[in-house]
Amino acid sequence: MAKVRKTRLITKELYDRAEQEIYFKTEDGMLAEGNGDISLLSPTISSTDVVNNLPRKPPAISDELRKKLPIHGSVPKIRCVSRARIPTTKGPEIFLHLYENELDSKEHLAIVFGEDIRSRTLFEQRPKDTQEERMVRGAYVGRLFPGRIYADEDEESQKELHFTEKGQLIREPETTYMGNPCPVRIHSECYTGETAWSARCDCGEQLDEAGRIIGETGHGCIVYLRQEGRGIGLGEKLKAYNLQDLGADTIQANLMLKHPADARSFSLATAILLDLGLSEIDLLTNNPDKILAVEGKNQDIKVRQRIPMVPLAWTTEGGIKSKEIEGYLSAKIEHMGHLLEKPLH
Ligand SMILES: [Zn+2]
Repeated sequence: MAKVRKTRLITKELYDRAEQEIYFKTEDGMLAEGNGDISLLSPTISSTDVVNNLPRKPPAISDELRKKLPIHGSVPKIRCVSRARIPTTKGPEIFLHLYENELDSKEHLAIVFGEDIRSRTLFEQRPKDTQEERMVRGAYVGRLFPGRIYADEDEESQKELHFTEKGQLIREPETTYMGNPCPVRIHSECYTGETAWSARCDCGEQLDEAGRIIGETGHGCIVYLRQEGRGIGLGEKLKAYNLQDLGADTIQANLMLKHPADARSFSLATAILLDLGLSEIDLLTNNPDKILAVEGKNQDIKVRQRIPMVPLAWTTEGGIKSKEIEGYLSAKIEHMGHLLEKPLH
């Protein structure tokens, strides 16, 4: 009995700490600072009613306040290494883009819907570039076929790419998607939920659902960031699961391991979206604060509206059913409740 009580006391303390340190909303619905130890980003899921009642417009905050938020100021340098067409089991074809960047050595990805969404850094002419090299790295227009010679011209669709004197791709409506805004999801890798069939979270379901929604519109992108376990890594995430089995919730467990409740960063997503020419987006998320994180201090990206992601478990379509996910979702709901009391407009 004593052991159980001790665990509860510790988690209660940590829970209270998280409550105090997380960003809060003032009377007029503006974001205000906590003490900065905990990320701006609060949990992302809530019940159907909660999700639908949250504002869909981006939070209206002053430029002055935006500059004070713990969100990116400058956009990191990134480069698209390669791109390939992937037919999918779900129906729509996607174009998978792999990126390198100056902040870490991870291979972040963009799952792009639409052949004509073009990466600036992939398509720009590189020193000693050949047509063959361009095709191999995926910098071609139209479709590849056996024996094709030119990357920049597609005989079948009669499309041709043009470049500036410096070798930059010229974005022309005939060959390159210009129809902003389009739907975008920023998804953080979850090995357990996407690959190991975990029912502790709904990441796999959210990825599928984002693909379905974007696939229906024909154009859009899922930025897939390699930040497992809200940024703490897979090893630490597995420890957090053991703490959860010992009685902590998802947020408390992270804090007990001395990680912030959410260690994710989204500046790389901003950089990738800009590279793809997607500077105005509709963001698929249940977390209004994520809008600010993607836009950054200088609003490099503009979010027109938020598209809610309703968990399938709360609809008639089934979804994940497990004891663990109920706890996971209710931990998020408790935090989301603060947004509802004083919603952002
Ligand atoms: Zn997950």
